Amino acid sequence: MSEDSNNNCDNNYDIDIEKLKYVGEKRAKLYHKLFVFKIKDLLYYCPRTYINLTESVDIVNAPADQNVVLKVLITRKQAPMPTSRKGLVIYKIFARDSTSEIVITLFNEPYSFNKLEINEQYFVFGKITRNFYNQKVYLEISSPLIYKASETPKFVAIYQLTAGLTSKIISRNVCDALKLPGIIKEYLPDWILKKAKLVNLNQAIKNIHFPRSLKEIEESKKRIAFDELFIFSLCLILIKKNNLKSTSFVIKDTDLSDFYNILPFELTTAQNKVIDEIKKDMQREVPMSRLLQGDVGSGKTAVAMASIYLAYKNGIQSAFMAPTEILAWQHFDSIKELMSSVGLRVGLLAGSMSQKKKNIVKEKLMMGLIDVVVGTHAILQDDVVFKNLGLVITDEQHRFGVKQRAKLSEKGKEPHKLIMSATPIPRTLSMIMYGDLDISIIDKSPSNRKPVLTYYINESKRQRAYNFVKKLIDEGRQAYIVCPAIEDNETSDLKAVLKFGEDLKNNEFKDYKVEIIHGKTRAYDKDMIMQDFKDKKIDLLISTTVIEVGIDVPNAAVIVIEDAERFGLSQLHQLRGRVGRGKHQSYCLLISETRSLDSINKLKTMTKTNDGFKISEYDLQIRGPGDFFGSRQHGLPQFKNSDMIKDVKLLKLSQDIVSEILEKDLYLEKKRTSGTKKNSF
Ligand code: ADP
Ligand code: MG
Repeated sequence: MSEDSNNNCDNNYDIDIEKLKYVGEKRAKLYHKLFVFKIKDLLYYCPRTYINLTESVDIVNAPADQNVVLKVLITRKQAPMPTSRKGLVIYKIFARDSTSEIVITLFNEPYSFNKLEINEQYFVFGKITRNFYNQKVYLEISSPLIYKASETPKFVAIYQLTAGLTSKIISRNVCDALKLPGIIKEYLPDWILKKAKLVNLNQAIKNIHFPRSLKEIEESKKRIAFDELFIFSLCLILIKKNNLKSTSFVIKDTDLSDFYNILPFELTTAQNKVIDEIKKDMQREVPMSRLLQGDVGSGKTAVAMASIYLAYKNGIQSAFMAPTEILAWQHFDSIKELMSSVGLRVGLLAGSMSQKKKNIVKEKLMMGLIDVVVGTHAILQDDVVFKNLGLVITDEQHRFGVKQRAKLSEKGKEPHKLIMSATPIPRTLSMIMYGDLDISIIDKSPSNRKPVLTYYINESKRQRAYNFVKKLIDEGRQAYIVCPAIEDNETSDLKAVLKFGEDLKNNEFKDYKVEIIHGKTRAYDKDMIMQDFKDKKIDLLISTTVIEVGIDVPNAAVIVIEDAERFGLSQLHQLRGRVGRGKHQSYCLLISETRSLDSINKLKTMTKTNDGFKISEYDLQIRGPGDFFGSRQHGLPQFKNSDMIKDVKLLKLSQDIVSEILEKDLYLEKKRTSGTKKNSF
C-alpha cells in the first residue's frame, strides 16, 4: 500500500458524517443525536437487531399483535384517501400470499406507496391486526417495513433510531461509506486474529450491517466486541504504566502503635494483612492504587482509618469520599470520635451543609488546618482545594464512576489511592475489570460475629415476625424494617412507604420509639435520626433502601424486609449487612408472597448463605449481566458494542493477548522506533 492511499483511508475514516454522500447538514444533525459524528462512528454503529426474512409465515398462520414477516404479492393499490384530519393521508395496498389476503396501510408515505409495484413480491414486516368491516374480518398491517423480495438479502439490519432517520436510510449510508476507497484497515496482526479466532475487520464491519447468515452476525459481533475490549485492555496497561509515576507522598514513619491503642477492638489478621500491604505501598516511590474488597461488615472502615492515620503521621492530607450523605456523616463521626484524641483534625463536606460552613472547611483544607476531609460528591467541586492531598479513599466504590474517582485524585499530585468495595462483583471478574489496581481482600469478618440467621416467611407469619422484633427490642436490641421504595421513586411508591410506616408506628409498634426515613427525607433530618438511632434513642427504624449502604449500628440485631422479592440478591445481602455487626445474634426476616420460582430461589439462597462472594456469583447467574448492578451507575466503563460482564471471556482473552504483546516485547515503544527507521509499517 502506498503512502498516499494510506493517508487517504485514514482521511475517509475520520471525516465528518456530513460529508458522506446523501447525508448533508440536516441529516448529520440527526446522526449526532445517535453519537455518530464521523464516518467511522457510522461504520461502528451496529444494528440493534435483524429481521430474518427467511422466517416468513403464511398469512393465515400469522399471530396477531406481534411482529411477523410475510412474503406477499401486491395485487392492487388504492388511490390515496385524504382524511378529516388535516395533513393525514392514508394509503391502502392489497396483497396476498397462497393462504390469504391482507391490507397494507401506510400513513403519509407517498414515496413508498408510489414505488410499490403490482404483481411484485415483497417482504413485509410488522404487526397484524384483525379488523371487522362490513360484517367481514380482514387482516391489516399498518406502517410495516417493506422490502422488494428480488432485491433484498435474507437479513435486514434494524438500528436504534431517532425521529427522521430510518433503518433503511442508515443502511443506505453505511453502504455508501463502505464504498469509499480503502475505508477499513486491518490493524491487528495475523497472530492475534488467529489466536482469538477473529474474522478480519473488513469482513466484520461489512457483515455486521449486511449479514448473509447468523454465523456472519455472530462472527462480526465477536470481532467488533473484541476490538473494544482489546483497546480497553491496552489502556489499562497504559494507566498502570502511568501509575508508575513517582509520588511526592512517600511515607517514612510507619509506626501505628498509637492508633492500635485508641482502637476499641483488636484488628483481625485479615485487616492487619491489608494494613501491611498499604504500608508497603505508601513507602514506595509510586502512588498506591489499591482496591480493598471485603464483605459487608468485614471492617473496611478500620483499615481506611489506619491509612488516614499513617498519612496524618507523615504530614499528608487525606480525602474520604462516601456515596451517600448518611454514610459521610457516619464516617465523619467515627473518625472524629476515635482520632481526635491523637490530634487528627477532621472536616466534613456534604451537599446539604450551608455555604458558610462549607466555606470554612474549604478554607481550612487549603491552609492545611484539616488533616482529613470526609464527604460526598461535594468534595469533587472545583473550588475544593487541598494544601497537600496525598491519600484518596473512596468507599463503596461501585457507586462511583471511574471519572469521579479520577477527578478526586487530580486534586492531589499523584496521591495514593485506596478504593473500598463491598464486592458486588465476583472475584474472578474483579481481577479482570480492575486490571489497573492491586487488590486486597478481607476474607474473614471479625470473629465476635455470629452469622445472621435468615428466614423467608409469608404474610401468615407477619404477626409472629413483629412479635419477635418486639421481643428483641425488649431485650435491648434495635431493629430495621425496610420497604421497597426505589430511591428515585414515584410519589405513589413513597406514599405507600409513609402510610405503611405511619401505620406501624401508630398501631403495631405504638409502645416503641419509631422513626421513618426515606429518599426524600431532608439530609439534616436523616442525620439527626441516624444519630438518635445510634444513641439508642430510637428502637425501630422504618426505611427505604437509603440504609442499604454502609450504615453501621452494631446494636441493631434484626432487619425485616418487606416485599423482599422486589430487591436484587446483592441488594438483599447489603441490607442484611446492616445487622450482625456486633456481638449479638442477629436475624433477617424476608417477607414475601411471591409465586415466581426465580424469586423463591433468590430468597431461599439468602437463607442458605451469608457469603457475599457466593451471593454475587449467584446473582450474576440468575439476573444476567444487565441487571446485575441494579443501576447503570456501577462505575464500569460502558462500551457501545460489548459488555464487560457478558463478554467476560473475550475480555479475559484480550487481556491475555495484551500480556503476550508485552512479553513478546512488542511494546509500542519498540515498534515505534523500528517504524521510524524504516519509515513505514
Ligand atoms: P464494612 O466493611 O461493611 O464497611 P465496617 O468497617 O463498617 O464494615 O465495620 C463493621 C463493624 O465492625 C463496625 O461496627 C466496626 O466498628 C466493627 N469492627 C471492625 N473491625 C473489627 C474488629 N477487628 N473487631 C471487632 N469489631 C470490628
Ligand atoms: Mg463500609
